[in-house]
Amino acid sequence: ARLHRLDRTETTCGYCAVGCRFELYSDDERVLGVRATDPDAAPANDFSTCVKGKFGYGFIERDDRLDTPLIRDGDGFREASWAEALDRVASELEGARDDYGPDSIACFASSKCTNEEDYLMQKFARAVLGTKNIDNCARLCHSSTVAALLGTVGYGAMSNSIEDVSNADCYLFSGTNTTESHPVLATKVKRNVRDGAELVVVDPRKVGIAEHADQYLRPKPGYDIAWMNGMARHIIEEGLHDAEFVEANVRDFDALRSKVEPFTPEAVEELTEIPADELTEAAERIATAGSVVFGWAMGLTQHSHGTNNVRAMANLALLTGNVGKPNAGLSPFRGHNNVQGGGGDMGTLPNTLPGYQDVTDEAALDRFEDAWGVRPPDEVGLKVTETFEAIHDGDVRALYVMGENPALSEPDITHAREALDTTDFLVVQDLFMTETAEHADVVLPAAAFAEKSGTFTNTERRVQRVGKALDPPGGARQDWEILQSLADRIDHDGDRWDYRNPTEIFDELTDLTPIYGGMSHERIEREGGIQRPCPDADHPGTRFLYGDGFNFPDGKARFVPADMGEPGELPDEEYPLTLTTGRLLYHFHTGTLTRRVEEITDHAPESFVEIHPETAEALGIDDGETVRVESERGHIDVRATVTDRPGEGVVFVPMHFADGAVNTLTGERYDPTSGIPEYKIASVRIDPI
Ligand code: SF4
Repeated sequence: ARLHRLDRTETTCGYCAVGCRFELYSDDERVLGVRATDPDAAPANDFSTCVKGKFGYGFIERDDRLDTPLIRDGDGFREASWAEALDRVASELEGARDDYGPDSIACFASSKCTNEEDYLMQKFARAVLGTKNIDNCARLCHSSTVAALLGTVGYGAMSNSIEDVSNADCYLFSGTNTTESHPVLATKVKRNVRDGAELVVVDPRKVGIAEHADQYLRPKPGYDIAWMNGMARHIIEEGLHDAEFVEANVRDFDALRSKVEPFTPEAVEELTEIPADELTEAAERIATAGSVVFGWAMGLTQHSHGTNNVRAMANLALLTGNVGKPNAGLSPFRGHNNVQGGGGDMGTLPNTLPGYQDVTDEAALDRFEDAWGVRPPDEVGLKVTETFEAIHDGDVRALYVMGENPALSEPDITHAREALDTTDFLVVQDLFMTETAEHADVVLPAAAFAEKSGTFTNTERRVQRVGKALDPPGGARQDWEILQSLADRIDHDGDRWDYRNPTEIFDELTDLTPIYGGMSHERIEREGGIQRPCPDADHPGTRFLYGDGFNFPDGKARFVPADMGEPGELPDEEYPLTLTTGRLLYHFHTGTLTRRVEEITDHAPESFVEIHPETAEALGIDDGETVRVESERGHIDVRATVTDRPGEGVVFVPMHFADGAVNTLTGERYDPTSGIPEYKIASVRIDPI
């Protein structure tokens, strides 16, 4: 009854990319409750939300929300007016541009911001500052997926929908901790498995979804290409591949066949420790099922051969004819609420303009020049991970970070933090004094998801509305408003910015982004979300991709055979254990929000290390004991949890904590194609303390 007296705002969850729709119940100052909306308005989640969506909003009203701009003053900060802070940021960025050239500035957009805000951030970088250096943290999660899928099927996105994932006959999941990372989606999968669908899980850590599997295979970390190539080989040898589909739709079958030839079940067992008969049983399961969803996340992507991992997965899906039809497909489960849209579709990438139009495509550049009054840079910029090296080398002098936290999320954070301190000028725009903001010269207070309007694009490419329930606290502002105020102050050749609201920004971006061309805020609201591509107003949106052919001029997909790669770091005498990293149900990414919510921290208060019972016994470590985990880059002291979730010799530390930060331990080794860091493998030792 109390809820009925409150304001009700329909919106989209600001945590993960399942994109659950719900209503926020609020008074003038606070969000007081969350309730899932009806299934018609919420195709992604029906009536469900997870613990983060339902109880994770307490950060909005925290006393430590930033509500006034801050300027560095010695070792600390002093409060400043917006005019002073914006003038300072504008003059520092102009100074870097004039003294060292536009490419001495790098900008990080955010997969948490709205599409409208991320569109503006890349426009700010390219049209106002003139720099080619724009990227975002999608670099750290699915950049290898995007690289692999662009080369095999043509779009760097999930090919299917949550509806398809909910109704598959069979699943092959690898490197996805679905239960904890995409909880509402996992519930749909588990329900379907309970009703008879088959589930194969291949993962070095026995993640929650594996409890529901028909088959769980535990490979040695870092050898995924071997088991996927081995499955492909067995399927071909047994004549179980979809020859008709392959003949009609996929090129380079012979190249795949010869590449996978050495991966006999016995060779795979030798490399991965997966028993040969279990591998062949799993291969036959996915080859004979009516429809298969191939699901993966960071466990496959965050490797020094991440792009090849995803190619090997895509090859399996193509080989078995499971792309371009209902209830099947390629499902790279995206992380952040808006990583698909703000982290990619909006052109916050160093090589593509909005809608994945190449920065070297003259026709695309002409269109943007017509719209913006200035031509965007026509060269590929720096990736996030390259930016830190460029700062160390003195090539990047100023960094603008909107809503990201690289001081915790970069590999080898000691090195990354040195880079942040090395910049001539660092501006951070965020809700809180994050670990990154602590290094800034100017900190600009921004609005939370409940304090802004616009759109997010979820993991199934569904663009959904974000509704504003509250005003930001004190002087905090929406990100688009801050960017517009800066554009106003910086001398540039392009047109003047005069957006009055996010709808006007969306109208501009849909004109320039063909895959969003048929959308408007009003239509999205009316239809409960629209899945891109949606090129014109009559197009219904796209449930699954490739039903009419693949995104290449000849309409055919490509087998891109995956070379076997070793992990970049192997255990040795000094560091004999393999560390892997990942997520927990209760927290989200670097925890800037969830570590500030009591209902969450009550359940998951601190970092820890999971150790297999045999490993713990050999090291003389008891459950609950505090231990030191050390790599050649640093150490953390955390509580030991003795469990058989990781295999023997493998240990796991979650990614969400500032105390016991796991990226103190990880190293700067990158996939050469995508630049994604190898978060999933680091050699460590563990000692009682
Ligand atoms: Fe939010 Fe994801 Fe949980 Fe849904 S599953 S409520 S989108 S965190």
